[in-house]
Amino acid sequence: MVELPTVTLPSGETVPQLGQGTWRMGESARVRKEEVAALRLGLDLGMTLIDTAEMYADGTAEEIVAEAIEGRRDEVFLVSKVLPEHSSRAGTIKACERSLKRLNTDRIDLYLLHWRGHPALAETLDAFLALQDAGLIRYFGVSNFDVDDMEELFALEGGEGCATNQVLYNLKRRGIEAGLLPWCRERSVSIMAYSPIEQGRLLRDPALTSIAARHHATQAQIALAWVLRHKDVMVIPKAKSEAHVRQNRAALDIKLTGEEHAELDRAFPPPASPIPLEML
Ligand code: NDP
Repeated sequence: MVELPTVTLPSGETVPQLGQGTWRMGESARVRKEEVAALRLGLDLGMTLIDTAEMYADGTAEEIVAEAIEGRRDEVFLVSKVLPEHSSRAGTIKACERSLKRLNTDRIDLYLLHWRGHPALAETLDAFLALQDAGLIRYFGVSNFDVDDMEELFALEGGEGCATNQVLYNLKRRGIEAGLLPWCRERSVSIMAYSPIEQGRLLRDPALTSIAARHHATQAQIALAWVLRHKDVMVIPKAKSEAHVRQNRAALDIKLTGEEHAELDRAFPPPASPIPLEML
């Protein structure tokens, strides 16, 4: 198996740049086998970063991940998330224990707060640090945190230990380029881009269609190659079809030219000034 390019976490550990999402997996028993097989194929192709959450299909997505990684836990960098409504100190610890059970593992590699909720951030952070001490999670991070949320986190003792911020980023949602992305880079917080093909809504775009034809590729692959151009950003497309998994892996081999980047900038202009973080 050819090794994928990697992103380095603040600890120095490396993680494959391209991984696999799982939102909407586990919602129908009819496609369960297909979903497990897609994740396994992704692992075979080196996409060993898997993102899930207690929210997805009310925990069933985590069970699907458990099935997919059975017997190969050590190959995988496993990410899961606690819901904001569970993010009090005690709630976070209980939610993590439930996720571990569903994932059928003794540790989560990276545990994220899914988005800001009502419990004080200090409580969630305290729980993350306790879970880390207990070895139940290896790293902690956040998701859907804009610059002001990150500043609040970093003002707390231990907050600068945040490894990752998982945010919406694709051609249509470039807001982070004007604020959050440089902020995180300066502090070595890695960015993980979710919905990199805008849940399929980017696929009919004429600019992508034209560039895809030149590369004998698909629109989805061009959209992924565009996000993957940032060598320090992890990207987690979700795919349940085998063909999509193979295409997504192959997107790593597509190099866009300077002129193609300019074409994409004309079709999807970069932000001129910071705009509030969007989320799906
Ligand atoms: P994506 O942008 O990854 O799009 C997923 C959709 O695109 C699916 O319908 C999939 O189809 C389709 N698709 C995948 N690959 C291809 C391809 N090569 N060609 C054509 N279509 C393709 O959206 P998601 O919202 O799922 O984002 C990815 C992951 O990010 C999530 O699964 C989740 O893990 C995470 N996420 C996190 C959020 C957060 O708040 N932290 C919010 C949203 C997502 P099919 O499945 O049929 O193959």
